[in-house]
Amino acid sequence: MSEKSPKLRAELDGIPTYKPGKPAAAGGAVAFKLSSNENPYPPLPGVLESAVAAAGNFNRYPDMACTGLVNELAERFGVPVEHVATGTGSVGVAQSLIQSTAGPGDEVMYAWRSFEAYPIITQISGATSVQVPLTDGDVHDLDAMAEAITDRTRLIFVCNPNNPTGTAVRRAELERFLDRVPSDVLVVLDEAYREFVRDTDIPDGIELYRSRPNVAVLRTFSKAYGLAGLRVGFAIAHEPVAAALRKTAVPFGVSQLAQDAAVASLRAEDELLGRVGTLVCERTRVYEGLVKQGWTVPDTQANFVWLRLGERTLDFAAACEKAGVVVRPFAGEGLRVTIGEPEANDLFLHTAEAFRKEL
Ligand SMILES: *Cc1c(COP(=O)(O)O)cnc(C)c1O
Repeated sequence: MSEKSPKLRAELDGIPTYKPGKPAAAGGAVAFKLSSNENPYPPLPGVLESAVAAAGNFNRYPDMACTGLVNELAERFGVPVEHVATGTGSVGVAQSLIQSTAGPGDEVMYAWRSFEAYPIITQISGATSVQVPLTDGDVHDLDAMAEAITDRTRLIFVCNPNNPTGTAVRRAELERFLDRVPSDVLVVLDEAYREFVRDTDIPDGIELYRSRPNVAVLRTFSKAYGLAGLRVGFAIAHEPVAAALRKTAVPFGVSQLAQDAAVASLRAEDELLGRVGTLVCERTRVYEGLVKQGWTVPDTQANFVWLRLGERTLDFAAACEKAGVVVRPFAGEGLRVTIGEPEANDLFLHTAEAFRKEL
C-alpha cells in the first residue's frame, strides 16, 4: 500500500528556515557568542528572584492577559492599557501582526537586508514579500519603499535600527514616509534595539504612534533587558490593531516566569541603563577600533556592528571562530558582530586587525 504524506500548505514549500546564531563552541578554551545580539550580562537585580518565585507555580497556567506586565508597560510609556499587546517575543507579536493583516494575495513590505524573521513569517501567512533594497549606505530607502506601495500592501516593517546593519532612519525622513503611507496600511516600527539608540535625531516610535492610528511599535525584552531565553515582547498599537493582536496571540504564550521577570526588569531601570551605557561605550570602542584599522563600518545605533565583506565573509567568520568568537555571517554579503563583554570585543578587534592586513 503506498502511503501519501499528510497534505501541507503549499505556502510552506521553500520557506527559508530561521538560522539561529551559532552557539559558542563547546570544549574550546575561550568561546564568546557574538552571533545573536544577546545581552552578555546575567539577569538584572531582583529578576532571577521573581522568576524563581514564579517557577514555584508552574503547575498553573499563566495570566493569559498578562495583566501585571501590561499595566506596568502602559504606565511606563503613558499609553492606554488597551494599546499594549504582549507575545512570545516580539517575533511572536510580529507574526500576529501579519496574521491580523495579510493573507494570500496581500503584500508585506520590508527593507532588505533586514531582520531574517520577516520573510519567514510573511511566507507562512501566504502573503507576498516585497523586499526593497537598502541604499548603498545600508540604510532603509524610504522613498523607494513609499513608491513600492500598491493597493495590495497591508503591512510595512521599518526596522529601526536595522538588523543586521545597525543603521537607523531619522525623524524627518520617517515622518515624511509615514505621511505618504495610506492610512489603511499598517506600519510596524520594529524597535528591538531602541534602548541602545544615542542619536537624538532618531525618533522614538512611541511618540510617532500617538498621532498615527496606522503605526504600531514593536519592542522586546530580549536584547537590552537580557531576557532572550524567556520569550516576551510587546506591541504598542491603537485599537483595533491591538485588539486583533489579542485575538491572534497564542493562548497563554507568555509564561508567568517571563511576565514576572519582565516586570522586575522594568523596575530595575537604573541598573539597566548602567549596563546599556557600558555596552554603548564598548560599541563606540569597537566601531572606532575598526575604523582605525581601515574598515568601512556603517554608523550603528544597536548592540552590533556590520562589516560588508562580500566574498570574504565566510573566511572572516572562520577566522573569528578560530580566535574564540562566534559571529553571524551572511554568505556573500557581510557579517554582524554583537557587542559583548570587553574581552570578547578585544578578541574580535584583534582578529579584524589581522584579517585586514591580509586583504
Ligand atoms: C532580536 C530581534 C527581535 C526580537 O526578537 P524576540 O522575539 O523578541 O526575541 C525583533 N526584531 C528584530 C529586528 C530583532 O533583531
